[in-house]
Amino acid sequence: MGKLDGRVVLVTGAARGQGEQEARLFAAEGAKVVLADVLDEQGRAVAKELGSDAAAYVHLDVGDEEHWAAAVAAAGEAFGGLDGLVNNAGILRCNQLTDTPRKEFAEVCRVNQLGAFLGMRAVAPGLAARGGGTIVNTSSYAALAGMPFLTSYAASKAAVLAMTRVAALELAADGIRVNAVCPGAIDTPMTDPAALDPSADPGRAAAAAAAAEAFYRKAVPLGRIGRPDEVARLALYLTADDSSYVTGQHFVVDGGWLAGVPLPVS
Ligand code: NAD
Repeated sequence: MGKLDGRVVLVTGAARGQGEQEARLFAAEGAKVVLADVLDEQGRAVAKELGSDAAAYVHLDVGDEEHWAAAVAAAGEAFGGLDGLVNNAGILRCNQLTDTPRKEFAEVCRVNQLGAFLGMRAVAPGLAARGGGTIVNTSSYAALAGMPFLTSYAASKAAVLAMTRVAALELAADGIRVNAVCPGAIDTPMTDPAALDPSADPGRAAAAAAAAEAFYRKAVPLGRIGRPDEVARLALYLTADDSSYVTGQHFVVDGGWLAGVPLPVS
């Protein structure tokens, strides 16, 4: 018996990275999964692999209100309605505070912050109508500790935590639990040093990857970057009945990074 048997869950940003692992794990645990993303080809391929009995793909730009209405309708058509949402879609832009263009700040907040808001607002009435459900929002280590170059990202992810608490209070009476995950550094396309380096020089990318690995070895008590399936298992806990008495909380999955600072000794 799966932990999500009989549940229908929509996962945003499910074409790759953490969202993809969440979709795969949830399907393996018996859920019907609606994968949503703007990377249609990749998202459709994952859904196809999971099979039409277990998964459907829908194009959804999380910052677009009309897309949300269409996605909720598509989930209803495919599987009869939603019992859960994982607001996972997100973007990262790295810039010094004084170099961050207004447009970039707004773009990050549109996806990470407005997207999570629109998602919760779009699914909550349907979850309530089915007797309750779960919402898992994706915040970040960066919402809890300062990190240079992340003004827009940190702001958007702190807002996600604030909204998580308010939504948990307002939706508890409808049987809807709302929690957040705060991943540390996780090995996905978002943190790929090659992708973050606009020079596309393979030598520089390799050096950046080695530097990143050395950094995580030192900064993270568990000595390594996290894997997306390690975040997916936390999202599963918060979506399944295992967490039936948990709401309004955030959970850090970071290998111990936030627990303290490393000493300058190896
Ligand atoms: P990723 O870049 O691999 O995946 C993000 C997914 O979101 C992609 O499939 C992308 O197409 C999708 N997406 C982007 N904009 C979208 C939009 N407007 N509408 C719908 N989908 C959109 O990154 P990831 O690491 O898997 O990130 C997943 C979540 O975890 C994000 O919210 C991210 O901010 C958060 N997070 C990641 C890390 C990390 O170290 N990787 C750490 C903390 C938090």
